[in-house]
Amino acid sequence: MVAFGQWIGYGATPRQGVPARWCHYRQIRNRFGVRGIEVIIAANWKMNPPLADAAALAVAYAADSFDGVTRILFPPAPYLVQMGVRLDGTDMLVGGQDCHHNASGAHTGDVAAGMLADCGARVVLLGHSERRADHGEDDALVATKAAAALSAGLDVMICVGETLDQREAGSAEAVVTAQLEGSVPAGIDASRLMLAYEPVWAIGTGKVAGVEEIAAMHAAIQQWLAKRDLASVPILYGGSVKPGNADAIFGVPDVGGALVGGASLKAEDFNGICSAGARAAAARS
Ligand code: PEP
Repeated sequence: MVAFGQWIGYGATPRQGVPARWCHYRQIRNRFGVRGIEVIIAANWKMNPPLADAAALAVAYAADSFDGVTRILFPPAPYLVQMGVRLDGTDMLVGGQDCHHNASGAHTGDVAAGMLADCGARVVLLGHSERRADHGEDDALVATKAAAALSAGLDVMICVGETLDQREAGSAEAVVTAQLEGSVPAGIDASRLMLAYEPVWAIGTGKVAGVEEIAAMHAAIQQWLAKRDLASVPILYGGSVKPGNADAIFGVPDVGGALVGGASLKAEDFNGICSAGARAAAARS
């Protein structure tokens, strides 16, 4: 299996003329050659939609491609194989929304990372705030799951983000830093990791963090990464991203893409966000 990081060739050196703030983005070296500086846009379908609608959506996704944009689909686990088949031959990868921290065993209802890989997943989403809230997942468990996923050959996208109370108390940055410390396995290879900063109060609420708030948090995360030799890791923003706000969000320094929930369930909206990603990628290259 080709790891996602290998596929898109993370860790490229900055090019002359590229603003310093984009230096951590990767030049894409996919199967077709170098394509430029990439924006990653991931669709998190959560526990949606019914299979018939999912198939139609995947067909609509497959009809388009966006220069400079790497797309990832996180469908419900039972749909992985079918969505992988529908998207085969396109530049859109499929991934799991979660995995168990063990490779196998008596864990009714759970899915092992290796099973996701067997179903065509290249990456797994971990530590989403809905998993943290609905299933009591803490940072230590997220780190253990990440280790299991890496062992199974999957790359990981780890989510972090503060609640509204934490932001209002002025502790957003401290909360996110603590989540990074606890959730990102020590010594992880930068080419296997993506981060998603998702303020919990902005997920599914229609409230988007302001560009200054996003810029400040992404800069703090970037600093944290740089100290650990992980500066090339992309940091996606998530939280009510829509076609109408995507250009502004992708214009923020250190935003390497978007994790999209609600808007990914409408092909037109998701494609609108991907078009904004392509404009951002062109502006950065
Ligand atoms: C998400 O589920 O990760 C998310 C960002 O959702 P939404 O885009 O609906 O806010």
